[in-house]
Amino acid sequence: MSAKAVEQVETRGKLYEGKAKIVYATSDPRLIVQYFKDDATAFNALKRGTIVGKGVINNRLSAALFERLERAKVPTHYLRTLSDREMLCRRLDIIKIETIVRNVVAGSLAKRTGLDEGTPIRQPIVELYYKSDPLGDPMLNDDHVRMLKLATPAELGWIRRMALRINGVLRPHLLKHGLVLVDFKLEFGRAGGRLYLGDEISPDTCRLWDRETRERLDKDRFRQDLGGVEEAYQEVYRRLVGPV
Ligand code: UDP
Repeated sequence: MSAKAVEQVETRGKLYEGKAKIVYATSDPRLIVQYFKDDATAFNALKRGTIVGKGVINNRLSAALFERLERAKVPTHYLRTLSDREMLCRRLDIIKIETIVRNVVAGSLAKRTGLDEGTPIRQPIVELYYKSDPLGDPMLNDDHVRMLKLATPAELGWIRRMALRINGVLRPHLLKHGLVLVDFKLEFGRAGGRLYLGDEISPDTCRLWDRETRERLDKDRFRQDLGGVEEAYQEVYRRLVGPV
């Protein structure tokens, strides 16, 4: 995409409003703008609230992590930051699969297996979930993905490989800054015959624990009413990007 095309882009109507972001069309059909809100939801939107300043942090943090991934040859939808809460992205046809990578047992994996939260996982695990609010995002295996025609076997192979590559980039990077990457959620999509990483990478979509104290520095503070939610997001930002 030429730099000129990117310079001239203008925001048009709202394409989609999600729980944490609004997606706007632009004058270029290949581009969209992601606007990051402070709204937070959990448990399939049964719990709702606001995390003040979250949109700014998630926008800027996602941009920094997308840039790092691009340098490691992970194609992402990120093109550039437009403002505190807006990033310009490639428009993707989103694949309706949530890909989760896990390095440490937490959340639904602890519930499903009976293993204690915090148990290390020797070899990272990749899980697939059906991105469907009415169904409550049920878990899928490769056969279900094929049956539902959500992705071709070749696409799914690429998604699994890329999810592990992303983990291989982010995990050591975060650890260097005192953060354990416990698990995280990814979304991928298609554009112009290629696949890209989409959505965001932030404390909304990752579990991040302090390396020394194991303190939760992510959305679990909101989910579990642990308090200090804004402070946790700010702390992650400070460690990875700089002063808030
Ligand atoms: N996650 C997410 N969106 C979802 C479900 C999960 O971003 O709709 C992230 C969550 O923040 C965590 C990881 O994916 O980092 C694994 O979540 P888990 O399956 O443990 O679900 P939970 O028990 O948290 O609902």
